[in-house]
Amino acid sequence: MQRRNVIVVGAGPVGTVAALACARLGLSVLLLEEKDRIDDSPRASTTQPPTLEILAELGLIDEYLRVGLVSRTFQFWDRPTLTLVAEFDFARLAGETAFPFVVQTEQHKLANMALAQLEDARMGTRVTGLSQDENGVRVFTEDQSYAADYVIGADGGRSTVRKSLGIAFEGYTWPERFLVITTRFDFQAALGCCLRNYMADPQEWTNLFKVAGDDLKGRWRAVYNTREDETDEEALSDAAVRARLSRIHVPESQRDYLHLNLYAVHQRVAKRFRKGRVFLCGDAAHVNNPIGGLGLNSGIHEAWHLANLLKSGGDLDSYERIRRPLNIKYVQEQTIANKKRLEERDPAQRAKRFDELRAMADDAKRHKAFLMRAALLERS
Ligand SMILES: Cc1cc2nc3c(=O)[nH]c(=O)nc-3n(C[C@H](O)[C@H](O)[C@H](O)COP(=O)(O)OP(=O)(O)OC[C@H]3O[C@@H](n4cnc5c(N)ncnc54)[C@H](O)[C@@H]3O)c2cc1C
Repeated sequence: MQRRNVIVVGAGPVGTVAALACARLGLSVLLLEEKDRIDDSPRASTTQPPTLEILAELGLIDEYLRVGLVSRTFQFWDRPTLTLVAEFDFARLAGETAFPFVVQTEQHKLANMALAQLEDARMGTRVTGLSQDENGVRVFTEDQSYAADYVIGADGGRSTVRKSLGIAFEGYTWPERFLVITTRFDFQAALGCCLRNYMADPQEWTNLFKVAGDDLKGRWRAVYNTREDETDEEALSDAAVRARLSRIHVPESQRDYLHLNLYAVHQRVAKRFRKGRVFLCGDAAHVNNPIGGLGLNSGIHEAWHLANLLKSGGDLDSYERIRRPLNIKYVQEQTIANKKRLEERDPAQRAKRFDELRAMADDAKRHKAFLMRAALLERS
């Protein structure tokens, strides 16, 4: 039986990038994915500068830019008064990165782009478990097994690879869920906002993002927290969705929507990112709330780091030693802080947080420092 250098489990954006990076570096790689096609439900889209640098290395950047939207700025708003609090501009990062902007490209486009470049990907192939010894790893599917030197588990938050290694997924699940309403309503024209907006509100916050859509005609995603006592049926009901759109000033005649997505939100980090010859990457290793667009980006950074490490035969322990603390310090801490900033209920604390944002935006040095951290450039 053919033995590969690397088997990647999961053809999400992280697994496909990991597999392509391994292939480009000259490793023999097999990608195994349980679904027949890439999941194209609306999920992550914000792509930070260091991730764009990786996509450039992989030769995907031109196509990535073509099917996405370049967004140089992001804004914080006070939703109850509909006033702009502060704007941050990635142009301040010129000199730090070749890409001083983010790109809003839906994650399924990236996964499809990377998959198209792979020679050995088996869709519709579910991994059921694995075994390893000092010489190699064997990956089991429902009807056969495959051998490799190393395995990358990029099989998402419910990772079979992580579970079969017995690695704990430490952290918690937030009591509320997040609702994403996809609509053609043009918030930029109506509210004067930019393509990435965070709107704080003690009762119900809203984040607004524009993406290109598969037809490249543009559409918006409005993300809301649900009430803790709200059932899924209630949150997804047509009346509740229209009421939510009304609360961000969508006129009654324009409250039709294209898609709804309701999901549970977690902050969890795997206790280990590696066990022997098997590594965890992306959501298999960590999950977080999506505010700030950091989780998927950090997963792609891990995929790139790991592919280079496996190719170079360097210190394999360094992967967990470097990546786990980076995720805790930059992804978990920032996404929790981002969420608190949006939902703050105490009026004095709200005012203080807004003052802090204004002060940072107005001070060139602090503005840049805030962006370096928000873009995962500070330590990536
Ligand atoms: C519903 C939802 C909405 C989200 N919305 C946002 C958002 O708005 N903004 C944001 O920044 N982030 C969002 N996220 C998070 C973001 O989508 C993830 O960070 C990203 O998908 C992680 O990519 P990944 O490749 O690590 O995992 P995934 O995208 O989950 O990919 C894992 C892949 O592994 C496959 N797989 C699983 N088990 C097996 C197995 N046993 N054998 C073979 N294949 C297997 C799966 O089918 C899947 O294709 C959302 C997540 C979810 C679940």
